[in-house]
Amino acid sequence: MPALEGIEIYLKDESTLPTGSMKYRLVRAMFCQAVADGAIRAGTPVFAATGGAVAVAGALFAKLLDVPFTAVVPAKTPAEVLDRIEREGGQWQVAEQPPAAIQEETRALAARYGGYFLDHFTDAERAVAGWDGPTIADEIFGQLEGEPNPVPEWITTGAGTGATSAAIGRHLRRHGHLTRLAVVDPENSAYFPAWASGCDDYTTGMPSRIPGIGRPRIEPGFLPTVIDLVIPVPDAASIAAMRWLRSTVGIEAGPSTGTNLWGLCHLVSRMRAAGGQGSVVALIGDGAEFYRLTHLSAEWVRARGLDPAPYEAELECFARTGEWSAG
Ligand SMILES: *Cc1c(COP(=O)(O)O)cnc(C)c1O
Repeated sequence: MPALEGIEIYLKDESTLPTGSMKYRLVRAMFCQAVADGAIRAGTPVFAATGGAVAVAGALFAKLLDVPFTAVVPAKTPAEVLDRIEREGGQWQVAEQPPAAIQEETRALAARYGGYFLDHFTDAERAVAGWDGPTIADEIFGQLEGEPNPVPEWITTGAGTGATSAAIGRHLRRHGHLTRLAVVDPENSAYFPAWASGCDDYTTGMPSRIPGIGRPRIEPGFLPTVIDLVIPVPDAASIAAMRWLRSTVGIEAGPSTGTNLWGLCHLVSRMRAAGGQGSVVALIGDGAEFYRLTHLSAEWVRARGLDPAPYEAELECFARTGEWSAG
């Protein structure tokens, strides 16, 4: 951004992974651990409880291992995702239970068929911690080598399972980097209120509208001790930032990337006000292709009472002048 002299913004693009989402890393680590543990063997059917990116990646890894894969999906799962699960060689079935009970339904289904339940909310964080290949944090620091400021001031990510923020936060501490880690959090998520109040069993009872991030309860993989700051971001601001990235930079990213970018602008404005310089990194969690009929549709956005326009104006002003009034 030309107005932000001395501050470089980098986006780590996880949509380039084979399934188009950062969930590829989590699911790869979970399959690897389950195979190493002997929990997935020849013929073991694998089940997942989601109509999201974990199901797409689960189908891919099950195909590579030649084991059957079934995703138990919520009733409102977009057709694009179901097609994608099938194209990766998986099957899906619509859950009989309401969304809050899909995990238990799937666990029971896996038990009935002697299968393996790919429980990302419980297992992804530990599986990623045990992954012995390069992590997302190794890649971020490796890719910044040779840049003017190879150690960023801040890295921002959203939290769904919490595995990605845990992996980045642990890496920062292990390597003694001064980089700080911010988690950006959408509306209806328990992570920000729990962080702000210190109450670790906070629940909201409402699902997040930003796919992949924000949870109605604190998931077991969320590791607050390695996080420096949690930033609440209005959903209309996430959508504005996603649109703005598309129209000004030409990057077609999903809604959680908008949440990241909005949080990052907040941090950058504080750096600038304090006379700080250096680099910052935000995550692109997935691409825009799954969101044409939802977050990219003006009608869908309006029907939810969301108005991104004032937030878009704010971003335009920030890019042009470096002034940020959103606080
Ligand atoms: C899952 C997901 C995240 C958050 O990652 P976790 O490691 O599960 O906390 C962020 N963005 C997108 C698009 C995701 O699908």
